[in-house]
Amino acid sequence: MSAKIRLYVEHPLAPGQPVPLSRDHAHYLFGVMRLDAGAPVALFNGRDGEWLAHVTEAGKRGGTLVCEAQTRPLQLPPDLWLLFAPIKKARTDFIVEKAAEMGAARILPVQTDFTNSERIRQDRLQAHAIEAAEQCGGTFVPEVADLQKLSRLLDHWPADRQLMFCDEAEAGSALRLASEGRNKPWAILIGPEGGFSEAERKRLHAMEQSHVVSLGPRILRADTAAVASMTLWQQALGDWG
Ligand code: SAM
Repeated sequence: MSAKIRLYVEHPLAPGQPVPLSRDHAHYLFGVMRLDAGAPVALFNGRDGEWLAHVTEAGKRGGTLVCEAQTRPLQLPPDLWLLFAPIKKARTDFIVEKAAEMGAARILPVQTDFTNSERIRQDRLQAHAIEAAEQCGGTFVPEVADLQKLSRLLDHWPADRQLMFCDEAEAGSALRLASEGRNKPWAILIGPEGGFSEAERKRLHAMEQSHVVSLGPRILRADTAAVASMTLWQQALGDWG
């Protein structure tokens, strides 16, 4: 019997491996979904691929699943980071969810000169990334980093990581995303509602790794820009082709 429910767990997954359930997972499986002993569940932990498991103990506050066989190997996304300036809560949640679905390897919220929010709930955003992977059949979960200053991140920018700098000041100019960048580590940078400051723009244009990109003739909202830029990158250089 194949499993209809997919869960992300922290536990290692291997043949015959018992997997203890958290209180929340037990509530979901046995309270909400009304599963009983013997029911199949698909498990993944972001490292060991996807596994078919069966319920062996079902309780109100806990329970156990036992892994049977791997159903899919681990599928890693391309080495793509998404850097974005957090905006309003629902739109930030949307960016994290879509980045996880579309194949980002790491998600890095950054504080730019015109970023409004000073804090994020990293744990909540990480939970959104996990939920997105559960829903879309992913076997990998991108790490959501804590909020950090863009300037500090650029101070230590890896020499080989290419940067797709989505600059609203380039709106309308031709798209530039060279295919020789294939097989290199990359990052995409999306700015906040207020866009980039002139100082940031100057620094980003001067970076050797920077590829300045237009997302068309219209100014997009940051959440739309995140999805549009990931689509372009995945199509040109990622694992969609
Ligand atoms: N307030 C800014 C303005 O009016 O110019 C717009 C900022 S836009 C809402 C947020 C971010 O989305 C920008 O910083 C940029 O990274 C990206 N973006 C939006 N439209 C773009 C475009 N046409 N070309 C390149 N980047 C774009």
